[in-house]
Amino acid sequence: MLTNNVKGTHDIIGEEANGFAYIENVLKQICELFAYNEVRPPVMEHSELFVRGVGEGSDIVRKEMYTFNDKADRSITLRPEFTAGIMRLIVQNKLLATNELPFKVYYCGPVFRYERPQLGRYRQFNQFGVEAVGNNTPEIDVEVITLAYTILSSLNLENVKIAINTLGDDESRNAYKEALKAYFAKHLDKMCPDCHSRYELNPLRILDCKVPEDQEIVKGAPKMKDYLSDAAKARFARVLELLDALDIPYEVDDTLVRGLDYYAETVFEFHYVSKTGNDYGAIGAGGHYDKLVKEIGGPDAAGVGFSFGVERLYSVLKDDELLPDNINTNVEIYVMPLGNEAKTMAQLVASELRLSGFRTDICFEDVKLGNMFKRAERKGAKFAIIIGEDEVSKQQVVIKNLETTEQKSCELEKLIETISTEMGEEFCD
Ligand code: AMP
Repeated sequence: MLTNNVKGTHDIIGEEANGFAYIENVLKQICELFAYNEVRPPVMEHSELFVRGVGEGSDIVRKEMYTFNDKADRSITLRPEFTAGIMRLIVQNKLLATNELPFKVYYCGPVFRYERPQLGRYRQFNQFGVEAVGNNTPEIDVEVITLAYTILSSLNLENVKIAINTLGDDESRNAYKEALKAYFAKHLDKMCPDCHSRYELNPLRILDCKVPEDQEIVKGAPKMKDYLSDAAKARFARVLELLDALDIPYEVDDTLVRGLDYYAETVFEFHYVSKTGNDYGAIGAGGHYDKLVKEIGGPDAAGVGFSFGVERLYSVLKDDELLPDNINTNVEIYVMPLGNEAKTMAQLVASELRLSGFRTDICFEDVKLGNMFKRAERKGAKFAIIIGEDEVSKQQVVIKNLETTEQKSCELEKLIETISTEMGEEFCD
């Protein structure tokens, strides 16, 4: 127990940790180019926020939240997604009244869902995403899709498919929900218990049911497109027109409804199949929402956002060998002190090298020189710096190029200059 992680969590180490940092860096840079600013909401919120925000009909609220009572008996939930928390942050800090609209933010961090752990599905995973709030136009929907598309292109992910649909306005959705209720009423006795509660809470959720027998029934259900109001049709047509103008490829999928209750009008998902044929399903998804800000006590403001799973992005990049080579953990220089006095000098030398930008490590153990070289090799070091008694007394070091095996003595004060030249030659090779 003590040495096992909690089921559904995972340790992010070594190459994976570097991969995450690379991905997060790209995400951040692109968001900043689009003039989105970072926000960092807390991991915990009052449970009610998610019940109201994400919706009682969603699987997340019904089955997947990590909810507990704190010592003062408040019901607290570890965020299962970011959007509701960001809306709370916006409302509480009156950010819609004090900023130019739309108010545009991005976020990155862990989320928690009590799901069945399986390949690529965790109970604690990382999401990255954006929200643009306070503008209700097809143009802002398309900006958000363009931002996501730019991120995926910057990560060199070319096999991305964008599936898009509209859930229409209130009028369209209410008419559609009625039609779904009339249709499913005839089949409900054959459907799973979850679909019974979905029927009561939000019949749209039945379209997401994963039970194969239910999926067969879903195939015959009425289609959203037949219940769209003229205004909703015109809005969606404008979204598609803009995507065409920007040359962003998409496929309209009229079965796409998304699993969270707050969505309205435009909804979309990013699907990926790797070069090796692994189908990752949705690596990211999002959409427009009308009522969320108001639902949690804020002004009448619409928004749009998306969210990507960082673990999924990493797996896809790794699978398709799209992670850059230079994100490894190799050290450049390994400092090898022989004896106690040399250890003090090793610390000084390493500090100087680090401050000059060289990734430097020190051998802290009293092992034989041969063993130190083996360690340097395992760490992928390009150079070893050897400091023995002689070097300490002469205030010199020995620099050994571990690829060519050439070595030379160097005055301490010439160290940075010499190693920079040596490294320069290395890079020219
Ligand atoms: P959602 O908030 O459900 O729309 O999910 C957005 C993205 O988060 C998905 O497209 C996945 O990439 C990722 N994701 C969702 N659930 C999980 C999970 N349990 N484990 C890992 N990634 C997930």
